[in-house]
Amino acid sequence: MGRVALVTGGTRGIGAACCKALKDAGYNVAANYGGNDDAAKAFKKETGIPVFKWDVGDYQACEQGVVAVENEVGPVDVLVNNAGISRDATLHKMTDEQWTKVIRTDLDSVFNMSRQVINGMRERSFGRVISISSINGQTGMMGLSNYCAAKAGIIGFTRALALEGARKGITANAIAPGYVATELLANVPEKVMDHIVGQIPVGRLGEAEEVARCVVFLAADESAWITGSTLTINGGQLMD
Ligand code: NDP
Repeated sequence: MGRVALVTGGTRGIGAACCKALKDAGYNVAANYGGNDDAAKAFKKETGIPVFKWDVGDYQACEQGVVAVENEVGPVDVLVNNAGISRDATLHKMTDEQWTKVIRTDLDSVFNMSRQVINGMRERSFGRVISISSINGQTGMMGLSNYCAAKAGIIGFTRALALEGARKGITANAIAPGYVATELLANVPEKVMDHIVGQIPVGRLGEAEEVARCVVFLAADESAWITGSTLTINGGQLMD
C-alpha cells in the first residue's frame, strides 16, 4: 500500500499498539518518543519500526523531527497524535509547572505536529489526522483540570481541522478512550483503580490493542466520510 504513518509516543502503551497494528495493516510506520531510550530500543528491536526521539511539546523539535521521518520513511499520510502525560493535582494545589507541562505535551503537541504535515497532505490531497483524546476530556475528572482541558481542546481542534480538510481529502478525528491498562495509570492508587473498574459496565480496563483497532479503522482510505468525529471506546463507561 505504501502509505506512511507517524505515531507520536509510539514506543510504549497505546502508541506502541497503534504502530504494530498499522504495520500489520501494511503501513510504513515511524514511531516518535520523548525520553525513554531503553523502551524505544526494545520496541525497535521487537518490531523493526524506526524510532525518532523528540519532544512533541517543542515546535521546532517537531519541525526537525518530521523532516527526519520524511527523509527516512517518506511523506506522512497518517499522523497519530498519541503522545501524552498526566500530572494530577486538584486546582487549589496545582502548580504552574504541572499545568504547563500537560498543556504543552498533550495539546500544544497536536498543533505542533499537525502543522508540520498539513501542507504535504493538502498538496497530495490525502491525509488522516487522528488524535487521542480521553473520556476525561468528555466528562471532566477531579484532580485533572490540566489533562481535561488538553483532552477537551483536542476535540475542538479536530472539528476545526475536519472542516478545513474536508475538500482536500484530509480527515481529522479524535478517539476518546476510557481507562486503558498502560504505564500511564501506574501511579493511580489501587483503591482508586478498583473504583474506576467498578464504573465500567464491561468490568475491566481496556487494552491498548483495542484502541489501536480504532486508529487503523480511521486511518483507512475507506474511512474518507468519517471526519470531525470523536470515537468513544470505554467499555460502556460513557455512552456518547
Ligand atoms: P504511556 O505513558 O504508556 O506512553 C506515553 C508515550 O508518550 C510514550 O511513548 C512516551 O515516550 C510518549 N511521550 C510522553 N511525553 C512525550 C513528549 N514530550 N514527546 C514525545 N513523546 C512523549 O501512555 P498511554 O499509552 O497510556 O497513553 C497514550 C495516549 O492515550 C495519551 O495521550 C493518553 O493521555 C491517552 N489516554 C490514555 C488512557 C489510559 O488509560 N492509558 C485513557 C485515555 C487516553 P517515552 O517512552 O519516551 O516516555
